[in-house]
Amino acid sequence: MDLRACLFALAVLPLLAWGAKGHRAIVSLSLTTLPPEVRTWYRGEEGFLRDHASDPDHWRNDRKEPPRHYLDVEPYGGPGHVPHDLAQARAMLGGGFYRNGVVPWVIQDRWRDLVAAFKEGDRQRVAYATALLGHYVADLQVPLHTTANHDGQETGQRGVHSRWETGLPERFLQEDTLKAPAAAVDPHLMDRPWDWLAASYALVPRLLADDRAADRTSPQGARGRQRGPAYWMIFWQDQGPVLIRQLEGAAQHLGDAVLTAWVAAGRPAPPPI
Ligand SMILES: [Zn+2]
Repeated sequence: MDLRACLFALAVLPLLAWGAKGHRAIVSLSLTTLPPEVRTWYRGEEGFLRDHASDPDHWRNDRKEPPRHYLDVEPYGGPGHVPHDLAQARAMLGGGFYRNGVVPWVIQDRWRDLVAAFKEGDRQRVAYATALLGHYVADLQVPLHTTANHDGQETGQRGVHSRWETGLPERFLQEDTLKAPAAAVDPHLMDRPWDWLAASYALVPRLLADDRAADRTSPQGARGRQRGPAYWMIFWQDQGPVLIRQLEGAAQHLGDAVLTAWVAAGRPAPPPI
């Protein structure tokens, strides 16, 4: 591949979500939402969970992996029109179905893996299944993972994806200030990913508008806009509360999913360490 082809390949690679910092924060926070009888499954495993929370982002040379991290709602006609049924979704989009993103169904599959791990009674498997489930749940809380304009490429805002999900948290996020409510059993858990999809998508227009507004402070240089401290301060002021809400929401949803999986597995006690 020549250099231009390389650069092009880099430009079209789907982007990572939350960065390592966000994914780590989300799994740790989700553990705090669990009742003691579930939390005890994770005793001694928190470091392992944090270390593996970004694993799926490292599997991207498997071509089937990238679409597992997002779903673009536009080809379906909006977030209210994405079928819950896989066969129906496939019929709607035909050959482009998989490339358009499959994260809601991946969350269902990873949740079933977690139920199986609880039933099997293997701590390490439970921890790993939780890290993977948590990754995809967290990705779906990133607004730009729900739209075809995922990197602002259609609105002249290229790079906004990583500015929001990595640039902001790496600069400003204070993990010890995050909070999430106690987990609850959710009988409709398998339908939730579609609710999260719609809620995340609703945040896209404001996110893009705030990026444009913050960019009024960024002078145009030879290699594009030069974003300085003013840009980051303004973007954080406007989007920080949204980002924190999405991050705390991810932890809350993960906590609910873990508790619900444990109940579905028959409320097993963990094996002795
Ligand atoms: Zn991801």
